[in-house]
Amino acid sequence: TLRADAVGHAFDGEPVFSNVSLAVDPGEVVAVIGPSGAGKTTLLRFLALFERPDEGTVSFDGTDVWDAPESDRLGLRRRVGIVFQEAGLFDADVARNVEYGLRVRRPWSERLGDELAGLLGRNGTNGAVREALDLVGLADDADRSAASLSGGEAQRVSFARAVAYEPDVLLLDEPTSDLDPRNTAVIEDAVDRACDRGIGAVLATHDMNQARRVADRVAVLLDGGVIEVGPAERVFGSPDDERARKFVAGEL
Ligand code: ATP
Repeated sequence: TLRADAVGHAFDGEPVFSNVSLAVDPGEVVAVIGPSGAGKTTLLRFLALFERPDEGTVSFDGTDVWDAPESDRLGLRRRVGIVFQEAGLFDADVARNVEYGLRVRRPWSERLGDELAGLLGRNGTNGAVREALDLVGLADDADRSAASLSGGEAQRVSFARAVAYEPDVLLLDEPTSDLDPRNTAVIEDAVDRACDRGIGAVLATHDMNQARRVADRVAVLLDGGVIEVGPAERVFGSPDDERARKFVAGEL
């Protein structure tokens, strides 16, 4: 379980949010919805262990991340996979891009095995790369260059790269906001299937319909805090907070 507890932060004296608590368990999808500027990306950056919030704690399976020695923190960071709005692929073929995730995550002894297999003309990582590409319907595109992909395909590769990393938690920051409905559906289906395998996911999205489709739980980040969090049906059906009700009804 990756957990933010009572997290607060200010940029240049301007508070973004305070007292935000959010946890993601293995196998669940938690959507974070809220208006632009509410701090969804900032919250994801804290969950990604990129930086330390001014206040509160972030923990992974009970270990306080910022209290832990730096080497432990690096290990914890490797348990988180991230997909941004932009695919950010390298100028290489699709398989190499996905393989990168594996190389970062795996211990050096296995990586050495991969290198040897590569030298011998056998690619030790092929199976995992194919599996990750299969998840996003691109198993037959491994040899294409990243530059030849459409924006939607590139984003699907970016998702495959994050999954190949074998994370415990996936953080998805507006992963489909530039995509058409078909590519969006592929990513949403891949999120579902990754979570069926026990990966937890936090999805920051502008798209309330997407949150309805994929989230088990929804957190509404608004006016400097999480004003509502709970099962998706309840948050969308009968939220307790009046501002949350207005937000999900599109009235804010
Ligand atoms: P959007 O949906 O538009 O992406 P968001 O909910 O993800 O918005 P954030 O990107 O987290 O919001 O930004 C929250 C607030 O913090 C904004 O007012 C933003 O300008 C500010 N902010 C974010 N990062 C920084 C930074 N590095 N330095 C200064 N201000 C920042």
